[in-house]
Amino acid sequence: MERGFIRVGKFGGAEVRLHFFAIVAFVLLGFFSSRPLLGVAAFAILVVHELGHAALAWRAGFEVFAIELSVLQGACRYRGNLTPRAEAVVAWGGVLAQVVLLALSWGARELLHPGEGSFLGDVVEAWFVPNLVILGTNLLPLGGLDGAKAWTVFRPSSVKAVVRSTVMESRAASIERELAAIEAKRKTRSKYDIN
Ligand SMILES: [Zn+2]
Repeated sequence: MERGFIRVGKFGGAEVRLHFFAIVAFVLLGFFSSRPLLGVAAFAILVVHELGHAALAWRAGFEVFAIELSVLQGACRYRGNLTPRAEAVVAWGGVLAQVVLLALSWGARELLHPGEGSFLGDVVEAWFVPNLVILGTNLLPLGGLDGAKAWTVFRPSSVKAVVRSTVMESRAASIERELAAIEAKRKTRSKYDIN
């Protein structure tokens, strides 16, 4: 376990770990913020984001062993027969989860018109613009961000690799067939040789 994390529970077999800094941030928020719910709703974005990764990792048959939550970053830790493509798909899980929150907050804003400073108003406020900013930043193709892995799903080289392996497989099959035919011929010939 990374330094500074505290086990707070289990979810779907994964250990949920909360960083010491996040606990401090919550305490500060409770004491000093006039709108602590904004902070809690922002933290919920992180939780939902990591659960999005976990959902796709579970779907791919991986073992999700930990979900780590800190102040501004989190991690979904999983293991299994990892391939670059599978990891790229899991990277999209966090993004898609945030898109769901974005859609929910947009729908709530348009349909329910929550008042500013109300419970729903705070949640909608956190899940709209800040969520969108986090979503966009996280998709930049930089190391450490989901964008570094996510976009490789569309990289032509990964498509090429699939085509190449398919071509190789069909070539191998035709070579095997030819070898079998040669072997069959050789057997027939040796039969006549003995006679
Ligand atoms: Zn992520």
